[in-house]
Amino acid sequence: MDFKLSDEELLIKKLARDFAEKEVRPIAKDLSHNKGFPTKIYQKMGELGLAGVPYPEEFGGGDGSWLAFTIVHEEIARVDPSVANSIMGNSSVCSLLSNFGTDKQKERWLTPILTGEKIGAIALTEPNAGSDANNLSTTAKLVGDEWVINGSKTFISNSGTDITGPIVVAAVTGIDENGKKEIGTFIVPRETSGVLVGPLLQKIGFKGNDTRELTFENCRIPKDYLLGDKAKGYKQTLETISSGRFLIAAMAVGLAQGCLDLSLQYVKERKAFGRNLTEFQNIQFKLAEIATKIEIARLITYKAAVLKDNKEPFAMEASMAKLFATKSAMEIAHESVQMHGGYGIMEEYDVSRFFGDAKVLEIVEGTNEIQKIIISRKLINK
Ligand SMILES: Cc1cc2nc3c(=O)[nH]c(=O)nc-3n(C[C@H](O)[C@H](O)[C@H](O)COP(=O)(O)OP(=O)(O)OC[C@H]3O[C@@H](n4cnc5c(N)ncnc54)[C@H](O)[C@@H]3O)c2cc1C
Repeated sequence: MDFKLSDEELLIKKLARDFAEKEVRPIAKDLSHNKGFPTKIYQKMGELGLAGVPYPEEFGGGDGSWLAFTIVHEEIARVDPSVANSIMGNSSVCSLLSNFGTDKQKERWLTPILTGEKIGAIALTEPNAGSDANNLSTTAKLVGDEWVINGSKTFISNSGTDITGPIVVAAVTGIDENGKKEIGTFIVPRETSGVLVGPLLQKIGFKGNDTRELTFENCRIPKDYLLGDKAKGYKQTLETISSGRFLIAAMAVGLAQGCLDLSLQYVKERKAFGRNLTEFQNIQFKLAEIATKIEIARLITYKAAVLKDNKEPFAMEASMAKLFATKSAMEIAHESVQMHGGYGIMEEYDVSRFFGDAKVLEIVEGTNEIQKIIISRKLINK
């Protein structure tokens, strides 16, 4: 076991760090005022190959490692987690298409979302089905040569941008012999008649990420827009979400590192009672605990990514990484605001933005309670 990144991974880390500092940092404050999705920035990331790192080169990806992709999420989130989440949401669609799409579907839908020309959205969650996402109400019925989709989805990332490409929609296709819902996933172009896109949802975090409600009213798509098996869409999506979990963990590591960097800078400059803040043991201990948590979170996150790269089981480690890294990021954002005193509450200071973003990380891609259920089930059933 050596804890070294390859030359390629170091190169991607530098590319992502430089991009985040030069292109994302100058607009991050603006985005935090609910200015919506930064199309140009996203497309530049696509052109640099940052959106498609681990996907097949023949379809426009980079054929790189999942570890490298993890580092991209970490570096972008160190500056703005909401921008990193756009790549993350897109990657769920990339994975579904790569793993279950036909060559024709990959050529048409995967290539534009790997290169940043378009961005993909995955629509699983519904107003009454979140953690229990297999309890969907949206239906897809085969009528002649078309699937007809009806229902509504909520909290869907990347769904209303001006470059939104395919929306992958999970919908009930039937009931099996045990009375369980059969779920399929469908490729729905956003411009399809019957797709109604709601206004930008106003959130406490991830403000630069385009999150909306979607309604499908007799939305008709060709029969061959079904992605994979018509009864196995839920299983396909869960497999995909496992990789999403260590990417969310990577964003938590990046956010926490961003908080530490800002806090260090602040406490070195700020004085109280005639002394520098760094002279108070309370502050020193907070910094030590934060740095330790970040290091542990980074190790488990990278481990999950490396297991996936090595084609070994990684679902439990991905859930552990998501649980530990996001919980730590929330605690670290909290402590960072505290170290900034009143200034930490002010929007002018980036730690206040990270505070809202950290909360989102504990909810998305399966809440942390759901991660505990997954981990404990794996332990008990081993
Ligand atoms: C900013 C943002 C972006 C998102 N992007 C997407 C997207 O692109 N696509 C998409 O499909 N979805 C997306 N989501 C939805 C997200 O995945 C869900 O919000 C999440 O899975 C939780 O579902 P819920 O909100 O319905 O909460 P609920 O399922 O209602 O949970 C409420 C609370 O109950 C707890 N709980 C639920 N069941 C259990 C249980 N069995 N045991 C213990 N506790 C339990 C939960 O942990 C939580 O604390 C996004 C959400 C947000 C906030």
